[in-house]
Amino acid sequence: MEKILSYAKQRNYTKYTSTLKEAWRLSITGLSKSLIEALDVKGKDLELGPHEEYTSDPASHFGRIEAERHRQRGISIDMFLGLMKYYRQSYSDLIRESKFKDDIKYQYEQIIKRFFDRVEIGFCTEWASTGDEDIVKELQRNNRVMTNEKNKYLTIFESLSMPVFIVGLDGTIENMNHAASGMLHYDTAPGTQYYGEKDTLKLFFIEVFPWLDKSFKNFISGTDTKKTFETAINDKGQFFFISFSRSLDISGKFSNAIAIIEDITKRKTMEKELEKLATTDPLTGAKNRRSFLNLFEKEMKRSKRYNYTLALVMIDIDHFKKINDNFGHETGDKILNLLVAKCHSVLRDSDIFARWGGEEFIILLPETDLLQASSAAERLRGALAQSELRTNDGTNINFTVSIGFTIFGNKNILIDEIIKKADKALYLAKKQGRNRAVFL
Ligand code: GH3
Ligand code: MG
Ligand code: MG
Repeated sequence: MEKILSYAKQRNYTKYTSTLKEAWRLSITGLSKSLIEALDVKGKDLELGPHEEYTSDPASHFGRIEAERHRQRGISIDMFLGLMKYYRQSYSDLIRESKFKDDIKYQYEQIIKRFFDRVEIGFCTEWASTGDEDIVKELQRNNRVMTNEKNKYLTIFESLSMPVFIVGLDGTIENMNHAASGMLHYDTAPGTQYYGEKDTLKLFFIEVFPWLDKSFKNFISGTDTKKTFETAINDKGQFFFISFSRSLDISGKFSNAIAIIEDITKRKTMEKELEKLATTDPLTGAKNRRSFLNLFEKEMKRSKRYNYTLALVMIDIDHFKKINDNFGHETGDKILNLLVAKCHSVLRDSDIFARWGGEEFIILLPETDLLQASSAAERLRGALAQSELRTNDGTNINFTVSIGFTIFGNKNILIDEIIKKADKALYLAKKQGRNRAVFL
């Protein structure tokens, strides 16, 4: 297939042939199949004679069918026969390059010659038996079919909701669909690019999309057949899905790139919102338990690599029920928010703070030894004990918290066990009179 394609390219036949690999593969398959059939029927003797019955010969039968198909496509007999010579050449080349002995090579080449002669006889017989008028009718019929087919694919191209640009080798946009011209704010009717005057619009792809300049040039100068990625235009908060691909043309006739530029800002915003919903506590905006455990796991892996200790801190508001009972649930909620804000202001950016549930909070302090952990716990306790909530009627509400903490990181230990340990320390803090931090 490579051989025949390279002959066809060299001799300019590809101007009139299919651009898809599959079409070339099928033509070789058809030829080889009828060669095998001819050998089955005739044995190795494919020589010709004046009384030969060509209708029962698979080789000339193949020729007749191909004559009809190619004539319908508007291929002339000289063009077809010319290209067939190169098909024959390719088969001969294979024999010549094989390791067969010379006499075998000669015999096989002779078979190939006669086989192609038979195809040619079938082809010419069929061609000669059709009058000019029939040929015109056949062409007209086929032209209608092809126009319909073209319209079908053009309609599909124009109807795609994704903006598609077809970019030529010189970087100009050769064609774009309706969604693409809408994206560039050309208020054109679908099909304008195709049916309209060709040179009214000469746009360079990278001038229209300067932010894709680098990636597009890289793609064009590289060898990848397809490249897809997502990218953001920073100052506009817009996200795009980008796909660059080469057209599937193996004949080299349509060497262009296809660029799809889809605005996915909405989807990205939604994804971010969903991510936020899934990882934060709606009342306080703090991380939720699930997100905390995820981050905890990641931090554990990291700590094993760097070999430092971490601290886990559990905080529980003292007598929170009483606050709810005395001032109402809404005020209780405000206290929870106040606590979250306070903790965030005391903690480092690298500390992971989350609402564990109810009025209980949890903090992971990476790279923290016992001394640092004690001081952090005490700082939190003190800051919270000093904060107060001023209600609408002017009352100031104070509260205290109990804290349990532990440190770990030197040996293998399960997250569950670490949390249990901190919880136990918290229980002890409550038991010892509240408003205190206990290490375990
Ligand atoms: P202790 O010092 O032993 O921790 O006493 P406590 O009253 O804080 O203990 P307990 O765990 O029994 O009570 C916690 C209360 O927190 C019960 C529940 O009504 C309240 N609570 C849990 N979640 C929320 C919330 O989202 N908002 C408000 N306002 N209250 C909540
Ligand atoms: Mg409590
Ligand atoms: Mg509690």
